[in-house]
Amino acid sequence: MKTDIEIAREADLQPINEIGAGLGLSPADLLPYGHDKAKVSHKALVDVQEAPVGKLVLVTAISPTPPGEGKTTTTVGLADGLNRIGRKATVCIREASLGPNFGMKGGAAGGGLAQIVPMEDMNLHFTGDFHAVTSAHNLLAALLDNHIHWGNSLGIDPRRVTWRRVMDVNDRALREAVVALGGPGNGQPRETGFDITAASEVMAILCLATDLEDLERRLGRIVVAETFDRTPVTATDLGAEGAMTVLLKDALQPNLVQTLENNPAFVHGGPFANIAHGCNSLIATRTALHLSEYVVTEAGFGADLGAEKFFDIVCRVAGFRPDAVVLVATIRALKANGGVPLADIGRENVEAVLAGCANLERHVENLKLFGVPLVVALNHFDGDSDAELRAVQSLCARNGVRAVVADHWAKGGAGAAELATAVSEIAESGEADFRPLYPDDLSLAHKLETVAKRIYRAESVYLPQSVRRRLQAWEEAGYGHLPVCMAKTQYSFTAEARLIGAPNGHEIPVREVRLAAGAGFVVALCGEIMTMPGLPRRPAAETIGLDDGLITGLF
Ligand code: ADP
Ligand code: MG
Repeated sequence: MKTDIEIAREADLQPINEIGAGLGLSPADLLPYGHDKAKVSHKALVDVQEAPVGKLVLVTAISPTPPGEGKTTTTVGLADGLNRIGRKATVCIREASLGPNFGMKGGAAGGGLAQIVPMEDMNLHFTGDFHAVTSAHNLLAALLDNHIHWGNSLGIDPRRVTWRRVMDVNDRALREAVVALGGPGNGQPRETGFDITAASEVMAILCLATDLEDLERRLGRIVVAETFDRTPVTATDLGAEGAMTVLLKDALQPNLVQTLENNPAFVHGGPFANIAHGCNSLIATRTALHLSEYVVTEAGFGADLGAEKFFDIVCRVAGFRPDAVVLVATIRALKANGGVPLADIGRENVEAVLAGCANLERHVENLKLFGVPLVVALNHFDGDSDAELRAVQSLCARNGVRAVVADHWAKGGAGAAELATAVSEIAESGEADFRPLYPDDLSLAHKLETVAKRIYRAESVYLPQSVRRRLQAWEEAGYGHLPVCMAKTQYSFTAEARLIGAPNGHEIPVREVRLAAGAGFVVALCGEIMTMPGLPRRPAAETIGLDDGLITGLF
């Protein structure tokens, strides 16, 4: 099999206007970035909302192994598969962060014959959205330090500034920094640091905003610091939201590209899946829903995190009512959840696969809580044995769940035709009756507890006194209606990555809570969460280069 980049380079791309035309968009609706990428104009985004909405399919996964189980690949393959069986389907996924590309090899545009192209562009600067987020975020940081420098009339306490700076490079040296050194002309020295752009609240806002006005309102609500008398300071207090909106106005328009099989794909926004919600932009998904019979979208991480946030955060804001869920599982992740060390997951082991199905079964039970029917997609890897695949299928059948072996990685949309048929059957059955896990008016502490107990199956939740106090203060300040955004390891239902399978009786410790008032959620950190990754000892950057105009060493 060829490498992902070789396959992508051989793709027969259609001009982006033709992809747009397939969706009913005229050339005037598109703002082309070269020949094979375009943004959909603000005007068209409004016009399309007249059209009825198609079916919404969420792709999520069981608790994964570190390389990932193929959610993106399955999202792309399923959209191609749906088109093969005669449903007009569009895929919606996140944009890639630049940072990780130069650390570990591996793209974010799917793999094998289920990819989005042009994949090099999508993984690198693309249409500049990440740079726009970086600029808007850092403008706010600059305005804040500038305000303190020029007399600090708001009374901002420099020790209580929470707004950091961001950039899209993995650079551990910037995690903690002291700024404004060098004398009074350089401002008031204070401790701060950098996060990666995907971790910026501005990115989460871009991905949850419903239009430009909503974007501006949300930017204005960002809380950046506290005053000496502990009053929150917002971006509006600094007069920042207008200029930030100007920097983001183009970035808010979704990017249209295509799959290897020339089906439409929106690739837009890229928020972290831990301290943010980990889904592509609301605008991209909503626009795709108005333009297609089917929209297939992905939520980051395993279903305990990604699907829960898609349902409880994105669907709540957007009013989406998903019609089907695809739960991606692989034989290797089932073995890993069954206790096999990663080094041995290549060897046939039906017993371990069945033991690992405890993890799958729990995700299935959880997803049923949201009222959306599901199928299991067994993402087929070379080396999976028939006995292993059949064992999972019959176990799922006994639980009344369909498990389909999907071969889109090796065969493209044709390999996902059976999965597409199964998805269309449940999506068109009218069975879906979506409901979020908790109502808006539950207290913040109870929301955390509901997710921990019902989804993570925790026995208890540990909320330190400091966390309880903050939650209560935010409720008094009018933030109590917000949903919660859990930041936890994706490798376990618990807060400890090593506890694989379907553990019981654990406690979920909430170490810290953060208010993302602009994005519109309260983040609960259950464990160490890294918001500025580092590079490995031998970063991929050392072998990346240009050879005759072609990028080498990247994927
Ligand atoms: P996720 O979105 O769940 O993190 P991806 O779809 O990005 O996972 O896939 C992770 C990696 O595994 C990618 O490099 C992809 O090409 C590869 N991959 C996915 N499915 C298969 C498969 N069936 N066979 C071989 N490699 C695969
Ligand atoms: Mg992915």
